[in-house]
Amino acid sequence: MLRESIDHLDAILLTHEHNDHIIGMDDVRPFNFSQQTDMPVYATERVEGELKQRFSYVFEAVPYPGAPQLQLHRIDASTPFTAASIGIMPVAIFHGNLPILGFRIGNFAYLTDVKTIPEAEMTKLTGLNTLVLNALHMNPHRTHLNVPEALQMIETIQPKQAYLTHVSHRMGLYAEVEKQLPKGVNLAYDGLSFKDSF
Ligand SMILES: [Zn+2]
Repeated sequence: MLRESIDHLDAILLTHEHNDHIIGMDDVRPFNFSQQTDMPVYATERVEGELKQRFSYVFEAVPYPGAPQLQLHRIDASTPFTAASIGIMPVAIFHGNLPILGFRIGNFAYLTDVKTIPEAEMTKLTGLNTLVLNALHMNPHRTHLNVPEALQMIETIQPKQAYLTHVSHRMGLYAEVEKQLPKGVNLAYDGLSFKDSF
């Protein structure tokens, strides 16, 4: 956030409760200070429960001064919602056996920690300009797509541009992996940004 000079955050969408996705929650504090408002956080009932356990100090009746100020919004996999005036469509996906969420925003979809997408949810992913999809490394993994599996999924979804994220250090070097990827598929990297119309 500091390196990329991100000085404003409208809302936080949680895909699932694993620590590599929520443990930075305490760092919402500077945004509370600078924006002088609670941070809207969108999560399913299960994820909300996990958040309340792991960050119990945030949810005390009288939190200590300076604790993160979160405004929880309950969402579910089948109901579109609006965050920061932007319409968002949740996509129900599976992280191994764990049901989690991806999000479609206009013609952009963000799906991380996917292993499988139920057939019925695939209809939510047609006509994408940009798809961000996880690809761990080349080898198989129980709960994450590897590169060949991600490429197969991209082939089915047919976005104009796909970026691979949630990349392991076992992936190999950026320049070498990039050469092996088909046209319209690139490795994402820290600080990558793009514009899409919402
Ligand atoms: Zn993860």
